[in-house]
Amino acid sequence: MSAKEIVVISGKGGTGKTSLSASFAYLEGKNTIVADCDVDAANMHLLLGADFEKQEDFYSGEVAFINEDCCINCGKCKEVCRFDAINVIDNQHRVDNISCEGCWYCSRVCPTGAIEMKTQKVGDLYVSNIKKESKMVHAKLGFGAENSGKLVAKVKTKAKEEAAKLNKRYIVTDGSPGVGCPVISSLSGANLVVLVTEATVSGLHDLKRVQKLLKTFSLKAVCIINKYDLNQKITDEIENYLKGEDIVVVAKLPYDETFTKALSEAKPIVEYDSDCDLAKSVKDSWKKIKNILGDV
Ligand code: SF4
Ligand code: SF4
Repeated sequence: MSAKEIVVISGKGGTGKTSLSASFAYLEGKNTIVADCDVDAANMHLLLGADFEKQEDFYSGEVAFINEDCCINCGKCKEVCRFDAINVIDNQHRVDNISCEGCWYCSRVCPTGAIEMKTQKVGDLYVSNIKKESKMVHAKLGFGAENSGKLVAKVKTKAKEEAAKLNKRYIVTDGSPGVGCPVISSLSGANLVVLVTEATVSGLHDLKRVQKLLKTFSLKAVCIINKYDLNQKITDEIENYLKGEDIVVVAKLPYDETFTKALSEAKPIVEYDSDCDLAKSVKDSWKKIKNILGDV
């Protein structure tokens, strides 16, 4: 039987999404594979003590490369580049890798064939051993690199392969924040989406945006309202909205400094203080999630 994938997302960063994902992974231990799809700001490895055991290069797109031995510095490439990616430095035409969009135009106009298009390493993919005898697939995008949607897809594929190989029951995915290409990539193939929001006006606004996205993919979702006691009026609005969307609230977590203390010690809350009320609520929410998946 293939692993069930639970994708944890939020409309914006800072809602507690990663801490909650790490807690679910910690609770389920060796039954899970973790996929960190927040590749632009990956930090789940810190909470789960990843050892970076295996590394693979991640290549995406192409970039122009000028062979200086063949270049006669005629300037034609610079004239046609619409991305201002070619500059003259020390009397030599050179390509700025970060600005180059790999369109091939310069290589087509170069009279001496000095420009070659090369695939570019834009990041690293890792498979790590983590706490509780589990494994994690995570990645790091290079500075200024784009294509995080592709890297997210790669993390997910690798996590699925590892889950199948090791006969795991769950994939817990920490999705990308927002509603852009990386989050769409994070959501593909999800069995259940956990929406994490907080009791603020922007929290409600972002929740609506993400739910709109989920509807287009017909994905089933549940919700965790973090720091619900920050603003009871907004929490009521969030709950009314979720009711109308037929989304179950699996936890309402109060503002609690223990959450921040656990983070500062690089631990999921359920590891930091497994008996505190907050940890109990998180454990209860994971149980409800498994129940909804038909596993309890
Ligand atoms: S078009 Fe070719 S030869 Fe001319 S400056 Fe560019 S790389 Fe050099
Ligand atoms: S491939 Fe396109 S973007 Fe890159 S340097 Fe050449 S013309 Fe500019």
